[in-house]
Amino acid sequence: MVKIGAHVSSSKSLDLVFDRGKEIGADTIQFFLSSPRSWAWKDRTEEEKVLFKEKRKKTGITPVVVHSSYLFNLASADKVLREKSIRGVINELNLCEELEIDYYVIHAGKAKGLDDKEAVKNIIDSMRYILSEVQLGRTVFLYETLSGQKGEIGKTTDEILALLEPFPEKNLGVCLDTCHLYSAGYKINDEEGFFRYKEEIKEKIGLEKVKVIHCNDSKTPFNSRRDRHEHIGEGSIGLKGFELFINDEYFSTLPFILETPKEGDMDLINMERLKNLIKAPVAQ
Ligand SMILES: [Zn+2]
Repeated sequence: MVKIGAHVSSSKSLDLVFDRGKEIGADTIQFFLSSPRSWAWKDRTEEEKVLFKEKRKKTGITPVVVHSSYLFNLASADKVLREKSIRGVINELNLCEELEIDYYVIHAGKAKGLDDKEAVKNIIDSMRYILSEVQLGRTVFLYETLSGQKGEIGKTTDEILALLEPFPEKNLGVCLDTCHLYSAGYKINDEEGFFRYKEEIKEKIGLEKVKVIHCNDSKTPFNSRRDRHEHIGEGSIGLKGFELFINDEYFSTLPFILETPKEGDMDLINMERLKNLIKAPVAQ
């Protein structure tokens, strides 16, 4: 069975993510540990952490994914911002370990005035420090594939590879985002483009490093370098792209997480659209 779910709100108390997941019939969920556009860090009580784990057990929702704050920029040339980002990632990762989160997904950084090579080097230096401070046990750290908007690093397989290469023994991997891939120039919505991309990631990084799929259609055209998510089947990717991912021998074993606009009961409808694309196994 393919695991399908969505990003849900974690406001008020962290355990509510499971109630919100249940409400939409999600098998798997993603959420933020704090407001993704604020630097404020809130320490959680023991009680809240226990409640979180109990609720998880009760609902059976798994795997559980955390998305990092949008403010972090591990590539930044601004030392203060970079140090704040490093501290933020360490706080989030420590809490992930305590909560037994399966995957932590991050937008690694933006070049902003640096050339891409310098930005990649800054991210690697930041990661060296982070991984010297946090012992990753349960949680796997995932770089997300990005569209390349505003100097984002992670828009090509080579950039993701460069970020992974220095840490071969560590708990690191990749989260694919269908909208970002398409906007970055990977034509994943026809068979030729989809299998070319799959082969590229297999050769350069290894399929086993890919752990999560962010499942979003795109409001903007192919290769737009823009990051605007759209409901499944209503954007420039179209249903065919999702059909290829969700029926793929490897990708179908991963959690599919929606980050589509929160409008009415669209999470339910988008999940239904994905389920309808799953083909029954061919009778022998
Ligand atoms: Zn993301």
